[in-house]
Amino acid sequence: MGRKFFVGGNWKCNGTSDEVKKIVTWLNEAEVPSEDDVEVVVSPPFVFLSLVKTLLRSDFAIAAQNCWVRKGGAFTGEISAEMLINLGIPWVILGHSERRLLLNETNEFVGDKVGYALTQGLKVIACVGETLEQRESGSTMAVVAAQTKSIAEHISNWSNVVLAYEPVWAIGTGKVATPAQAQEVHSELRKWLHENVGPEVAASTRIIYGGSVNGANCKELAAKPDVDGFLVGGASLKPEFIDIIKSST
Ligand code: PGA
Repeated sequence: MGRKFFVGGNWKCNGTSDEVKKIVTWLNEAEVPSEDDVEVVVSPPFVFLSLVKTLLRSDFAIAAQNCWVRKGGAFTGEISAEMLINLGIPWVILGHSERRLLLNETNEFVGDKVGYALTQGLKVIACVGETLEQRESGSTMAVVAAQTKSIAEHISNWSNVVLAYEPVWAIGTGKVATPAQAQEVHSELRKWLHENVGPEVAASTRIIYGGSVNGANCKELAAKPDVDGFLVGGASLKPEFIDIIKSST
């Protein structure tokens, strides 16, 4: 079963409305492979979602960077999955390591959020990844398997889920995982899905890599058989993002 290459751009907490308009301008002008071959999703901060939705080319989709764990209500400062659906935003990133580590989001909380977002009709980019300490102590696979298990427990239909492997030590550090390191974890994750969810889900679920991906290192990573795309932070704010979109072709 073919897995369509997926490239996400996570803008994080960056940009002014003028800067966002500039990014959308070069995105809209870029020549990229057809949406039949590469799925592109950009993720602006909440306050720019409407602006980007109005301006962005129709073959690229939009993701929010988070959403609340259950139905909206008296939760000051939160944004609910229903609101994103109401706004016409199809995707959400959940479980990003910056939220896990800085905002103490636990595996259980992330799993609950993934479950709720899916029931509301959002598609989810679910993130997992180990810290440097965990890698050095040899627990990478145990950590990402536990994170994936908490997410998998809440998923009945995997066709709306992309799994992002993002080693924490590689995020925003310029220290990208080698293609061999990425392939090793991706193939282990696929094996985990095979054994714990099923062969069809393992074969069809996109597992994308994130952590210091840029225009120069993307092609070698994209060539690995279990790397089905990228979640890009810093480089998604720059025109080299277009090279990353093209990296599988
Ligand atoms: P980076 O971030 O590309 O800036 O390392 C990736 C991410 O956090 O998704």
